[in-house]
Amino acid sequence: QNMSLIKIEPVIRQVLSLLGPNFKKAGIDPKFIMEDKNLKARLDNIQLSQVLFNILINAIYASPKNSTIEIKVTSLEDHFFIEISDEGPGIPEGLRSRIFEPFFTTKPLGEGSGLGLSVVHGIIKSHKGNIKAINRESGGTIFQIQLPLTN
Ligand code: ADP
Ligand code: MG
Repeated sequence: QNMSLIKIEPVIRQVLSLLGPNFKKAGIDPKFIMEDKNLKARLDNIQLSQVLFNILINAIYASPKNSTIEIKVTSLEDHFFIEISDEGPGIPEGLRSRIFEPFFTTKPLGEGSGLGLSVVHGIIKSHKGNIKAINRESGGTIFQIQLPLTN
């Protein structure tokens, strides 16, 4: 792990730009909402990118064409939150507890390894953070990440 004090906003921008072609193909223009663009935290920059990449790839896969994906960053006291919401089918209640297990996938053979969210979970835990998947009232999923500002 390579922890350093970094600005969060450019890390998110970079991942969004890396996924530009994927968003385009899905007809999705990601909505990025962040009030404090200077927000800084002590973390592993590459690992944070990996977390965002894995969650966003899943969100794009789950999204109907021309729907909305939103990335929202807020902070509260000594923590900050990254929330990634999509308008896909949501996660069935009975599977919610298993999505962070390695090799758990509902995708057809060859389309998913089931490793994405287990990697995400490992990284968040190693940063003393938390992650949860919430089903939206209106349909779709919110992945909510909580991370300490100083680590
Ligand atoms: P994979 O993408 O290879 O299936 P992941 O670990 O990334 O593996 O995700 C595990 C499972 O969690 C997916 O197969 C899917 O069932 C569920 N999942 C993850 N993200 C979403 C999402 N945004 N909407 C609906 N289901 C999701
Ligand atoms: Mg995945």
